[in-house]
Amino acid sequence: MHTAESELLVRAYVGIGSNLDDPCAQVLRAIAELDEIPGSCCVRTSSLYRSRPMGPADQPDFVNAVAALDTTLPVLRLFEHLQALELRHGRVRGGQPWGPRTLDLDLLTYGDIRVADDTLTVPHPGVLQRDFVLHPLYEIAPDLCLPGHGSIADYLATCAGHGLERLRSPA
Ligand code: ADP
Ligand code: MG
Repeated sequence: MHTAESELLVRAYVGIGSNLDDPCAQVLRAIAELDEIPGSCCVRTSSLYRSRPMGPADQPDFVNAVAALDTTLPVLRLFEHLQALELRHGRVRGGQPWGPRTLDLDLLTYGDIRVADDTLTVPHPGVLQRDFVLHPLYEIAPDLCLPGHGSIADYLATCAGHGLERLRSPA
């Protein structure tokens, strides 16, 4: 990625999940594609984890990971790219909440900013409650503080990681 000196790089963290159509391959492909988003560079990725589904239980386990991106894109432009990537992986919208999906990309944080509007909430409201987000996030950013919430390390202590299994090292 080439950046002009005047362009500000922002560190964002993206949560990745899949439980359809070869989830490991979907996640690994998504990590490569995140690196190709204009003005963005994937600087770190967590291990891949297997997690029990959070919603309806009659669906396959999920594969999850978290990626750190450095980006010059404004937050909404980055979010649009994430949604476009989900669609390119055949993500069908409007299914049951927390139902099966080929690819879920959640914008967990974007620098220190906070957003709360109809389509986008940052930090993502699930970060601190979800084992499968918090553990991979802590693996690559143990010192991270969430704007408005504080240190993720403090939350990790209350998040037992039940049913979470580390599958493989970072890609
Ligand atoms: P979840 O990721 O919580 O399982 P979905 O992927 O079905 O749920 O997303 C539901 C909606 O959440 C999306 O339509 C999107 O507009 C919205 N959303 C709000 N904030 C975010 C964010 N930070 N990252 C991703 N999606 C978000
Ligand atoms: Mg999502």
